[in-house]
Amino acid sequence: MISFEEALCEILKATCTLERQDVRLAKLLGSYLAAPVVATRDLPSFDNSAVDGFGVLTADLRQASPESPVALKLAGTIQAGDAGGERLTAGAAFKILTGATVPDSVEAVVMREFCEERNGHVLVRKSVQTGENIRRRGAEFQKGQEILPPGLRITPPIIGLLAMLGFSAFSVCKKPRLAVIATGNELVKPGRALQPGQIYDSNTYALVAAANDLGIELCRTFLARDDADSTRNAIKQGLRESDVLITAGGVSVGDYDIVKDVLEECGVRGHFWQIAIKPGKPVYFGTLDSKRGSKRKLVFGLPGNPVSALVTFHQLVRPSLLKMMGASTFTNQTVPGKLTRTLSKKSGRLEFVRAVMSVAGNQAMVSPAAGQDSHMLGGLSLANCLVRFDCDADELAEGAQVVAELLSWND
Ligand code: AMP
Ligand code: MG
Repeated sequence: MISFEEALCEILKATCTLERQDVRLAKLLGSYLAAPVVATRDLPSFDNSAVDGFGVLTADLRQASPESPVALKLAGTIQAGDAGGERLTAGAAFKILTGATVPDSVEAVVMREFCEERNGHVLVRKSVQTGENIRRRGAEFQKGQEILPPGLRITPPIIGLLAMLGFSAFSVCKKPRLAVIATGNELVKPGRALQPGQIYDSNTYALVAAANDLGIELCRTFLARDDADSTRNAIKQGLRESDVLITAGGVSVGDYDIVKDVLEECGVRGHFWQIAIKPGKPVYFGTLDSKRGSKRKLVFGLPGNPVSALVTFHQLVRPSLLKMMGASTFTNQTVPGKLTRTLSKKSGRLEFVRAVMSVAGNQAMVSPAAGQDSHMLGGLSLANCLVRFDCDADELAEGAQVVAELLSWND
């Protein structure tokens, strides 16, 4: 049995980042930048006004105050979208709207709130500093400057920034295609009637949702019975149609846990089986090494218990999928917190305790969820973090500072 850290390291070593492709802005959300974002132009691209107001020469307003406003002759209006090439002369002002070009000759823009228009003139009640309310060309970014590093997850502001720079598409890594195989004679699709001894298949839906949550849309699903033929058919088809195959169930030590053998019969090379963690001890990891023209495929054999399947997906599959998609970081975010009740366990396995983190004053409190057994999805449904209960430890006392790893789907 290997440690969690060894298992993750082995998985990441076997994981390659997928090739790049250009994707249109409307489809970029949730992908990862495959190249740095470099300014194609200065931002702002020209001097423009931050407010609705009047473009002036500062010397004209030196004496301006609420008691003695200064009258300037209105020499024209510059609206957003106008080229704004006019020249301002002493004693005059341009009306300038927000976002409109500020001509080089204009030294400042006075907010319209301090002004009053009257008979082709504007009365200004305030003096101004040079540059006031002018958004200068290149003040945020200069052409050629690296703005964002590769590997960042593309969020709405990043899409906006790309559009601002004039990109209609950007380079991102491809997303992996997934196949999810749920195994078990007892499994029935939700919506159908159950016979005695049967249960509904929840893993397919939960695992596909966890993949969707990472921005992965292409997921084929299969339901296999606990016999070699049914399992082999699903595995063969799943391997053909995916970059990553995830099986759930049938990978432990029971008489009908045949998934591992069938995978290897189908050409999968086992890297490890069984990790010193709870939940999720039976996890299997293998690869189908590339034949000519095809890429290496990854195979995760996850346990069937619904909590084990999701927790191992989060802790082991997710980092691998993130690496494939070109993410620069694939570790979970951690937050320190104070444990609200004592936990105990046998030493020998790292435990991921499902917990709810809340903030009381300036202290994060971590409360273990009720229902820690690996078939109890209620606890994981309420949880927003996993507390690491170290392999060698057997007690975590109430009030102890613990490290909580945030569950990414609760972001
Ligand atoms: P296994 O890993 O196949 O030994 O399954 C462990 C436990 O998880 C058993 O109680 C199974 O009935 C249950 N289980 C396996 N697969 C699923 C599934 N897809 N949905 C819900 N429960 C499952
Ligand atoms: Mg089973």
